[in-house]
Amino acid sequence: MKRAITLGLAVSSLALASPLFAQEADAPCDYELVVLGAGQDAGAPQIGNAEDTGPGLLPSSLGLIDRMAGRRYLFDATPAITEQLAMLDAIEPPAQGLGVDGVFLTHAHIGHYLGLAYFGREAAGASGVPVYAMPRMAEFLRSNGPWSQLVELGNIRLQEMVEMTPLSAGGRIFVSAVPVPHRDEFSETAAFVFYQPELGNVLYLPDIDYWQEVEGGNFLRQILPQLDYAFIDATFWDDNELPGRDMSEIPHPRVTATMDLLQDLPASERAKVHFIHYNHTNSIRDPDSPESREVEARGFNVARRGDRFCL
Ligand SMILES: [Zn+2]
Ligand SMILES: [Zn+2]
Repeated sequence: MKRAITLGLAVSSLALASPLFAQEADAPCDYELVVLGAGQDAGAPQIGNAEDTGPGLLPSSLGLIDRMAGRRYLFDATPAITEQLAMLDAIEPPAQGLGVDGVFLTHAHIGHYLGLAYFGREAAGASGVPVYAMPRMAEFLRSNGPWSQLVELGNIRLQEMVEMTPLSAGGRIFVSAVPVPHRDEFSETAAFVFYQPELGNVLYLPDIDYWQEVEGGNFLRQILPQLDYAFIDATFWDDNELPGRDMSEIPHPRVTATMDLLQDLPASERAKVHFIHYNHTNSIRDPDSPESREVEARGFNVARRGDRFCL
C-alpha cells in the first residue's frame, strides 16, 4: 500500500546552514565523512556467485568523524562491520575502546543492522554503545533475540528517535530521522540528515521504494538545496537489469529515473548526489563501466568505498 509522507515545514526546519565545504579530504579536517561501503545489503559477490569476479562490494555504510570532540559515528551496522570499522580506525584511530560513539540504524534489513551482533559477548563485548533507531526498530531489537541480549547485557544502549526531530549525538553533531516508504516487515525505515550547524547537511537514504510516495515525488528536489551531500538509493540501474524478470513490480527508483528527475537542476545541485547501495547486478559497481561514465557525464556521482569528504 502506498502512503504519503508530508515533510512540510519540517524539511526547512532542519537547522540549515550555508554550504561551506565541497572539497575532498587530504589533510585531517575537523569533521570528516567516510564511505565505508556502497553496495546493497548482500554486497558482492553475493552468496552463491563464486564465479563473480567483478569489483567487491561491502554493504552501504557511512562513518562520521568529529575530531573536535574526539568522536566517531556509524550510519548503519552492516554484516561487514569488522572490516568497515577497521577502515575507519586506519583513518582516525579510536579515542578509547571501540571508539563508536553512536550507531544510527535505518531499518531491519540484513545489510543495515546485522553488524550489531558484533558488539555482543561473542565478539567485542562492548559496553553501552549508543544505538539510535526509530520506535519500531528499537522495539524490534528489544523484543527479539539475539538483539535483546545486547540490550539486556548493556552492550548497546538504545535511544529512540522521533521523526523529523533533530537530536544531539554529542559534540556539535545533530541528526534527524526522516521516514521513508520501504518494505517495512520488522521496522519502519528511516533516512538520516546529519549536520554540524556551522557547516553543512548530509542526507543518507540508502533504501526507498518510490520517490513518488514522498512529497508527491518532489522530496529530493525540495531537500537538495538544503544539503551539501545526498547519498541516495541506487539499487538498480534500469528496468532491464534482471534478465527474465518483470521488474515493474520491483521497488527502488532506478538510477536512470532519478537522474531524469533531477537533470534540469543546476550542475551544483546535481553534483551533491552520490549514488549508494547498488546491487551486485548494477553496472555502476564497476567504475570503468559505460553506466558509471554516464552518471559522471550527467553531473552526478557514484559513492565508492573509501571516499572521504571534509565537512
Ligand atoms: Zn538495503
Ligand atoms: Zn531495505
